[in-house]
Amino acid sequence: MKNIFRFLLISVFVLTTNKILPQNIATPYEVGIWSGFRETAINYTFDDGCSNQFSIAIPLFDEFGFKLTLFTVTDWVSNWLALQAASASGHEVAGHTVTHADFGKVTTEQQKSELKNSKESIESHITDSKCITMAYPYCVTGVDSICGKYYISARGCQNYIEPKTPGSYFNVSSVVGGNLGSIKTLSDFKTYFENAAKINGWCVFLFHGIDNDGGYSPITSSELRKSIEYLSVRKSKFWVTTFANATLYSKERDSAMVTETSASDTSFTLQVNDNLSDSLYNFPLTLRRPLPEDWPSADVTQDSVAVPMRIVSVDSVVYITFDVVPDAGEVKITRNLKPVIPDIDTIPADTPDTVQVSINQTNELNRDIQAVYSKGALLISLTNFTKKNLLISLYDIKGIEVLNKKYEYSGESEISVDLSKESLNSGIYFVYLSDGENSWNRKIIIS
Ligand SMILES: [Zn+2]
Repeated sequence: MKNIFRFLLISVFVLTTNKILPQNIATPYEVGIWSGFRETAINYTFDDGCSNQFSIAIPLFDEFGFKLTLFTVTDWVSNWLALQAASASGHEVAGHTVTHADFGKVTTEQQKSELKNSKESIESHITDSKCITMAYPYCVTGVDSICGKYYISARGCQNYIEPKTPGSYFNVSSVVGGNLGSIKTLSDFKTYFENAAKINGWCVFLFHGIDNDGGYSPITSSELRKSIEYLSVRKSKFWVTTFANATLYSKERDSAMVTETSASDTSFTLQVNDNLSDSLYNFPLTLRRPLPEDWPSADVTQDSVAVPMRIVSVDSVVYITFDVVPDAGEVKITRNLKPVIPDIDTIPADTPDTVQVSINQTNELNRDIQAVYSKGALLISLTNFTKKNLLISLYDIKGIEVLNKKYEYSGESEISVDLSKESLNSGIYFVYLSDGENSWNRKIIIS
């Protein structure tokens, strides 16, 4: 009786699990809903080539390492060099027809030539990537089957956040920004960010003008910057990417198949496939599996080449997380005896209207500041450092500030901050050091 009960319990568990996990993903592997197991994909898309998109938005996104999408009306382009430079930096140059045609008012033949000729024109000027997505002018959609001949997805503007798989790839909703739209301030951005994260959705923003460049419904550059700063310290939660990348990831994820072809005490091999065309659908998917207990760390290769990977601790499970391209060769995970401390993705605590922590991306690359914890003290070593008034803050892994101290610096090579009287639990903390102009962050472990 007891055994039957147990069997029934197991059956129920398996049935429930199958509902949540796609059946074609072998246990214990998981495919991230979005790249890097982030909670949501966010696209900033800009239409019609308004001038401040080039002088303000692109430099801002480049500063933080984010990518945007430029929906381009080919007859209106005055400077292909600027678009070529944007594409070379990883931004997407995508279609917005030849003449900004209203598809509610043109024949299907005209739709075809608008879609085909704008794609060909963009690809003739921009040769380092393909033009694979478009946005409908005036948000008036055309015939899906015509669009599908040239593009993998099209943006509309129904003003809602899409779920992880949109209702139609040829009318992906966007939310209009700027003074005539729904997104005017950081607070508006945050509402959409958080709502998108709650449903693991796909959030596309649509902008035209920035400040006073004459474009429709301008967003202010200051609020745009605040939104990017907010996302820049929450990169493990929000995937800021192009419309094309989100489309590729979404379709590949939904058709992914993961098969483990061999397993031993020291390695696993697997196949990651999809049923999509490999010439277009070659964006890496993020997979993970628990790291076996007796594996200090692991290496991952695809077709014998190392791929991006991380050892991450999520809710006390340690995973090996890695990015691989479907249908691009055998994936091999190999035990590595060199131990690593798992990363924990930390997300700063939210505050109503301010960005709590702003890290200057450029200075983050500067490695001449180190922080360690030793015998009750936080030790910060600095070289070639001249500033006088420093602010030293300590955050726990939930992003809550646990220490905030002004420090008068006078050229010493090491700063010591006594933590012995602070009642800090052991674990991972983040040290923020600011000289009023720049800030640096470092991870320490308090034991
Ligand atoms: Zn337009």
